[in-house]
Amino acid sequence: MATPDDFAALYARFDAAMTDVDCGAKCAPYNEYGVPFCCDPRHAVPTLYRAEWDLLRPTGLWRLWQDDDPGETQRLWAETPSYQVPAVCAGPSRMCAAHRGWRSIVCRSFPFFPYLSREGAFLGLTYYWQYEDRCWVISHLDRVQPAYRAQFVAAYERLFALYPQERATFRHQSIVMRRVFGRRHREIPLLHRDGGYYWVRPRDGALRPARPADFPKHGVYALAAQMPFPDEMEDGP
Ligand code: SF4
Repeated sequence: MATPDDFAALYARFDAAMTDVDCGAKCAPYNEYGVPFCCDPRHAVPTLYRAEWDLLRPTGLWRLWQDDDPGETQRLWAETPSYQVPAVCAGPSRMCAAHRGWRSIVCRSFPFFPYLSREGAFLGLTYYWQYEDRCWVISHLDRVQPAYRAQFVAAYERLFALYPQERATFRHQSIVMRRVFGRRHREIPLLHRDGGYYWVRPRDGALRPARPADFPKHGVYALAAQMPFPDEMEDGP
């Protein structure tokens, strides 16, 4: 059974910067109140593993999630696996800038999840596509740092050892993504654990090499890329 010490060890080894810039500063200008989308429970409520919650609770930096609407609270708790709890930062927006060491595994991972093949092999990282229009990182996969990718893979190998059921969870998530992208006639971007970039063909899961610069941009980031001075536009208003 996982312990708070397991999560302290995971945190120590999963701390590399995801990209070469502060991605929160890139997306926040496009969200209400200037809050990064993944720090805003109106867009995403993180879950903590229960042993992770035991580690984080004494810090006072996190609280269990309760929506203003009791029905919504009940729904979210009901759909959260028994070994996890929904929780949010208890402090001000971007508190994690000062308390990086207490970011949860989900915060360190977002927008990525482990991609598993049809056979169940953990091949690398892909992303929660529901956030394509909002998350700057999804539109800049070429900016994801190799050290981050390696630490992500090692962290999830450890999590799969601690929680074998998580392998099935992410295998299912990968199946759903192949279905969704198949219907949209799109291939799936994959940051492979071997360090390479690939397109996954949804129909049969076949891989073909990709050029990271060819991964598409979405939403406002696609618009920004078409401007004459895209870097200035992306630096926000
Ligand atoms: S991971 Fe995405 S949503 Fe979260 S702060 Fe970075 S760019 Fe914004």
